[in-house]
Amino acid sequence: MGAAKQTRFVFVTGGVVSSLGKGVAAASLGALFEARGYRVAMQKLDPYINVDAGTMNPFQHGEVFVTDDGAETDLDLGHYERFTHVRMTRRSNYTAGRIYESVIRRERRGDYLGATVQVIPHITDAIKEAILGIAEDGPDVAIVEIGGTVGDIESLPFLEAIRQLRFDLGEDRTCYVHLTLVPYIAAAGELKTKPTQHSVQKLREIGIAPDVLVCRCEREIPRAQRDKIALFCNVPRERVIEARDVPLIYALPLRLREEGFGSAVLAKLGLADPEPDLSIWRDFCARVEKADKHVRIAMVGKYVELADAYKSVHEALVHGGAANGAKVEILYVDAERLEREDAARVLQDAHGILVPGGFGLRGAAGKMAAIRYAREHHVPFLGICLGMQLAVIEFARHVAGMPDATSSEFDPQAKEPVIALMTEWERDGIRIRRAPGDDLGGTMRLGAYPCRLKPGTRAHAAYGRDEVRERHRHRYEFHPGYRERLERAGLVIAGESPDGELVEIIELADHPWFVACQFHPEFLSRPYAPHPLFRDFVAAALERAHA
Ligand code: GLN
Repeated sequence: MGAAKQTRFVFVTGGVVSSLGKGVAAASLGALFEARGYRVAMQKLDPYINVDAGTMNPFQHGEVFVTDDGAETDLDLGHYERFTHVRMTRRSNYTAGRIYESVIRRERRGDYLGATVQVIPHITDAIKEAILGIAEDGPDVAIVEIGGTVGDIESLPFLEAIRQLRFDLGEDRTCYVHLTLVPYIAAAGELKTKPTQHSVQKLREIGIAPDVLVCRCEREIPRAQRDKIALFCNVPRERVIEARDVPLIYALPLRLREEGFGSAVLAKLGLADPEPDLSIWRDFCARVEKADKHVRIAMVGKYVELADAYKSVHEALVHGGAANGAKVEILYVDAERLEREDAARVLQDAHGILVPGGFGLRGAAGKMAAIRYAREHHVPFLGICLGMQLAVIEFARHVAGMPDATSSEFDPQAKEPVIALMTEWERDGIRIRRAPGDDLGGTMRLGAYPCRLKPGTRAHAAYGRDEVRERHRHRYEFHPGYRERLERAGLVIAGESPDGELVEIIELADHPWFVACQFHPEFLSRPYAPHPLFRDFVAAALERAHA
């Protein structure tokens, strides 16, 4: 706790409606602190009961973001990583479920010595412990975002915990930022401040008076309205920040800086406010604006109706496009559509095809049709996780002459499980060298693992190095029992675990750019450091677009 004494805490809450972009606003605040030389930590507290995001359907909740240390977390952590230089960990995301689980575990152990275990103080104490935990290595500022909307029953213990933290830590070490909506009502021709007033009232009822208001709006808030918000919400005029919609989320740090967001929070915390260096954001936005080339990427997946389901992949394509001076148009294609319609017709306008991660049999045939089309028609292809597994199966079936090739995920009785659980390799007579319980055996391989790259491959050329670390989230693996046969048929193993046991990247040699990886490169792409595989994939697609 010694170092944590210096850390200031900024708590970000949201009101009126959900989906206001609280995560991006919190992440932008992190960028504004970093731009002034402060070291930040970021955390998201989610009021739902799931112990982590791992079991949640991306359809409902958006992608599951994976950290280096293998936590399956809320997608807002992806924003935090893309807007700052901080790497998230297991400590960066707590759900109500995880907090309750720890309290119940302690109760069963008898740690509470017969006391009645209650929401206050036991749950709130556990929440405070989790919050203080991210400050353990002494960042200057910890930004803590509370999920949900003020007024939800579920978020109450979290709000009570942050209320108490001001009491515990003091006025000048805490800052409450509240994000609200100032809607434009067309019929009245006016922006309305009432929802903001009500939302602040709700917060005050539970003992929190916001220090800074961030008002999400479609158009400029006139002076009179701002004054009204300030007066009725009891927030100084210069701490009412307008957050108008931006066309590119990476412009938000710049926009919020103009509005004085960083300065308002710094002033509240009594911290120095040096001139921020926002060049990485200015450069990135300028690059996107100047991009005069255009490329169309077809993303073939199962959750294409909800853009958030592939959030990090989407962003990585934007980064890769900017690196190539191109705007990337993403064409979301429902995989099942390719089971009814001809892939050549659906995909004819795509300059590149991407098959992202996924689970289960539904849509697999359609994804494979897309992969086959990419392979046969020399369309640049990037396969990720399930996308790689399907590329291996497609190759085995149509090139290596193994019509029964599949994944044991789709058919546990598979005759030719080219993709299988490690426990199943053993059944097939492969001796696993990894220590038991090391990571696998029916459980997920989660988090960052090293991958050794083979010189002369496209992957090696992209990364420009011999070894990388990438994040994983999967159960099934390339079955080594089939490796030789597939290599003989022309499959290139471009990356593997340093012990040679696990296949991490496959490629095709006689193709302009066909690369598929078992890991998720999208989690490591940043606007200021685009991921090499996305960058080169987009470059290859551009070449096709301009051929
Ligand atoms: N379903 C596959 C597995 O578990 C792939 C997972 C993924 O794409 N994230 O191995």
